[in-house]
Amino acid sequence: MSQHPVRIDGQAVHTDDSMVITAPYDGRTLGEVPACGRDHVDRAVRGARAALTEAPLPQWRRAEILDRAAELLADDDVFEDLARTIALEAAKPITTARAEVSRCLSTFRFSAAACRTMAGEVLPLDASRAGEGRLGFTLRVPVGVVAAITPFNFPVNLVAHKLAPAIAAGCPVVLKPAHQTPLSGLKLAELLLDRCGLPHGWLHTVTGDGPTTGAALVEHDDVAMVTFTGSPEVGWAIRAAAPRKKVSLELGNNSPIIVEPDGDWQSAAAKIAAAGTTHAGQSCISVQRVYVHSSIADAFTDELTRAVDALVLGDPLDDRTQVSALIDTDNRDRVAAWIDDAVGQGASIATGGTIRDDGVLAPTVLTDVTADMAVCSQEVFGPLVGVRRYDHLDDAFAWANDTRYGLHAGIFTADLGATRRAIEVLDFGGVIVNDVPTWRADQMPYGGVRDSGNTREGPAYAIAEMTEVRSAVIA
Ligand code: NAD
Repeated sequence: MSQHPVRIDGQAVHTDDSMVITAPYDGRTLGEVPACGRDHVDRAVRGARAALTEAPLPQWRRAEILDRAAELLADDDVFEDLARTIALEAAKPITTARAEVSRCLSTFRFSAAACRTMAGEVLPLDASRAGEGRLGFTLRVPVGVVAAITPFNFPVNLVAHKLAPAIAAGCPVVLKPAHQTPLSGLKLAELLLDRCGLPHGWLHTVTGDGPTTGAALVEHDDVAMVTFTGSPEVGWAIRAAAPRKKVSLELGNNSPIIVEPDGDWQSAAAKIAAAGTTHAGQSCISVQRVYVHSSIADAFTDELTRAVDALVLGDPLDDRTQVSALIDTDNRDRVAAWIDDAVGQGASIATGGTIRDDGVLAPTVLTDVTADMAVCSQEVFGPLVGVRRYDHLDDAFAWANDTRYGLHAGIFTADLGATRRAIEVLDFGGVIVNDVPTWRADQMPYGGVRDSGNTREGPAYAIAEMTEVRSAVIA
């Protein structure tokens, strides 16, 4: 099988060692990619560093490149090829994979818009005695070479959330896509380099495992900033390993949702069934913990269970499939073991909990979950929601906040007071009212508190992170 090359200084680079990429659903071999070592990483970073000084790109050109990428992503062949690649390498159902490519397109559009309007500000120096007679303003200057390290679960749009703002900000970038799902990210990078006019020095790709290729990138002296999306364990270790670099972290989560009796709980049940199981629950804002008021708990759980039972499971390439395999059997078996443990601790299975003949873990609803169970306290990253009933809304707020994570939380309610209190009290990066915490638009600020991270993505916000403020004073 031929190796899909990486791109360093515009050249297609192969290595002697390969990583084999397999489809999580049926185990078929999809391809091989280079196992890049320190020397490849070094060449890539040095190429990016050189582009900063030798191949400057004005703001208008950067915006045009990003717009061109969005145009090409709308092309049927490009669109479908990327969606199929995602579906195969990540076992993401093809309709969800198409939605990811659509979102990627809008990430490029918003990045182009943010690039065009990126500006500094006028400083009112005259407002102080010392500043009298001086003119001052700020510029936003690129932070330098950006290293982008991305996870397996959104292998195109999360790559876009790093490459597009970096280009907009004027930062050359080296991408290391997830070791399980590198193929779609490599294709997106090739689109930028080969068809959008991005000069070769501005984007390099390296593939390999995290501890070798990823670590070499993090440790390289010429990398000014690491933008990382992935697990808290790896993310915080990167932060510790690179104390003098900018390190932006988008990490894990175990999203709670509160369902009040005055809210549209039937709609909540349907949305939670989808949001807890989309991409087999492997979304950082997948619904995991459901707190439902006692007065509607039985009816709500029945509705939720019915909706989960109606989901179509199977081959990710089948248009009807809504839930497919987890990324690997280790993770599938881990989630199954956590379900068993929860049952051992007093939870009940309303539906699911079994592994089908094709290896897909059936989407699972657990009831009577408690905070000490792993399915509540950890990030499940599997097709599972746990339901707990409450009598007092303040208890639900307290339980929702009782987590080391803090990305998104949600509440269904028709009450303005409860809405306002939720927004004030829920200690998360985003609070979604009358929809699931899984809801996200690509232009909004997105990120978490506590173990969920230390930054905000969304093109305009990522650009701010990838630039430094330079003060200019004219005496
Ligand atoms: P992961 O941490 O295992 O891997 C992420 C990336 O880091 C991969 O490219 C991997 O190869 C690399 N890596 C691993 N070890 C490394 C090291 N020592 N040095 C440098 N790089 C290293 O995460 P994953 O399993 O791919 O993704 C799942 C996690 O990502 C979940 O926790 C999920 O919640 C989180 N996530 C967060 C967001 C967000 O926006 N907050 C979005 C998607 C996923």
